[in-house]
Amino acid sequence: DRFGIAESLKNLGIQKENLGVSTGEKWLDSGESYISSISPADGEVIAKVQVASSETYEEVISAAQIAFEKWRLVPAPQRGEIVREIGNALREKKADLGKLVSYEMGKSYQEGLGEVQEMIDICDFAVGLSRQLYGLTMHSERPGHRMYEQWHPLGIVGIISAFNFPVAVWSWNTALAWVCGDVCVWKPSEKAPLSGIACQNIVSKIFKKHDLPEGVSSLIIGDYKVGEMLSHDTRVPLVSATGSTRMGKLVGKAVGERLGRSLLELGGNNAIIITKDADLDMAIRGALFGAVGTAGQRCTSTRRLIIQEEVFDEVAKRLASAYSKLVIGNPLDEKNHVGPVIDQDAVKMYEAAIEKVKAEGGTEVVAGGVLSGEGFESGCYVKPAIYEAENHFEIVQHETFAPILYLIRYKTIGEAIAIQNGVPQGLSSAIMTTNMREAEAFLSVAGSDCGIANVNIGTSGAEIGGAFGGEKETGGGRESGSDAWKAYMRRQTNTINYSTALPLAQGIKFDI
Ligand code: NAD
Repeated sequence: DRFGIAESLKNLGIQKENLGVSTGEKWLDSGESYISSISPADGEVIAKVQVASSETYEEVISAAQIAFEKWRLVPAPQRGEIVREIGNALREKKADLGKLVSYEMGKSYQEGLGEVQEMIDICDFAVGLSRQLYGLTMHSERPGHRMYEQWHPLGIVGIISAFNFPVAVWSWNTALAWVCGDVCVWKPSEKAPLSGIACQNIVSKIFKKHDLPEGVSSLIIGDYKVGEMLSHDTRVPLVSATGSTRMGKLVGKAVGERLGRSLLELGGNNAIIITKDADLDMAIRGALFGAVGTAGQRCTSTRRLIIQEEVFDEVAKRLASAYSKLVIGNPLDEKNHVGPVIDQDAVKMYEAAIEKVKAEGGTEVVAGGVLSGEGFESGCYVKPAIYEAENHFEIVQHETFAPILYLIRYKTIGEAIAIQNGVPQGLSSAIMTTNMREAEAFLSVAGSDCGIANVNIGTSGAEIGGAFGGEKETGGGRESGSDAWKAYMRRQTNTINYSTALPLAQGIKFDI
């Protein structure tokens, strides 16, 4: 245990066998069914976790309903105080939680720490927000009347999260939802359940310390079937779901059928346009981190580089040279640049994508391959690969959650933007250029159609201050900063008559 994993697990309250359902301090026994959390770093079973049953699910929803009645009455700035303490607790546990995220999910330790920092940042943001949550006031057309709007909490927010950001996505939702007065029920990815347990252990102490009821923060571990319980449940007015487009379509349909609200954060197919006027040093660095960071498993990972003809060969050559220097290995060892993908299924998808791009006529720029031998026993380590391809290839149109980068040529900026937009997904996009006309065209109404459009930075690595999310098959949801909090509240318009008359709007006469 040269990375001190056992110590971190202990500090986070993770045992060899864990219950997987909790309403706070209370953990519920769901019976016999367990899942194993397997580290893609070394292939070891880290621990086992019990899966929610329909009975324990019911207990969680009942506790959440009761908790909401109380929590909504706590003034928002006081709810902010609780979230401030959660942020502080996360500061204390940053190294342990960052390590667990790295070990359970496979991203580098630095990125694991970064993910926890993001949680701390969103807590700080939410604390400030707790004194805002502004509604507008407006002028009434009727004398002696006043109009305004206010925002009230929704109730239970169901959170379904993906494996690749096993803790940050939860905090983007909960930090905002809690200051908004909602209670949260979280179903983490079944591929990273221990990260879920660790977070629940951290926050439940704080709710308990303040004598808040069980059920403000609940956890239900399980696979898609537990997710389905949330999406079909009319007692859950909002389901915030992060994951594949396939999952989003199912969740969106189930929630839509009962006219609930869903907030969907789904797959991306993110591109960087590199023009002949780009600062190529920056472009290469941006593309490199975007494509191989988190082993290509960020929703914002760079999947396509759209490169102007004049600089195509040079970009390809320099990227190949940079790729040759990448060190692949255990994500907890800070000398390594690239860790494993999540599991052997992900390896199979990576291999299938490489076969497919070759079959469709793609040409190899940097060869891929699965690594074996010492240090790679988990079978989850793959070489980041690069192929020259065409945008219309079926495989290029599809999000493969692995470090495969496609290079595509273009002649004019109009063509580049059309290629960038010519995929079903619409999450993140970027242009590398020093030419102001190109940059502005890319950001204009006729430019990128994505939720995120950057100039001279890559596609990944968003800050929490902005609203995060994307268009088209990415699902349209927005989380995190700006006014994303509005998704977690219901708007009420109030008209108050302080006069002695009762005039009708639009001057309608109705006298008897
Ligand atoms: P996934 O879709 O396999 O699983 C995500 C979650 O959905 C899991 O908790 C899973 O149990 C649950 N789920 C699956 N089917 C369900 C159903 N029918 N009903 C209810 N719940 C269901 O995704 P993954 O492999 O964990 O994550 C990778 C995907 O997530 C990629 O497509 C990536 O782009 C996307 N992602 C998007 C964002 C974003 O903010 N846009 C962020 C992170 C990840």
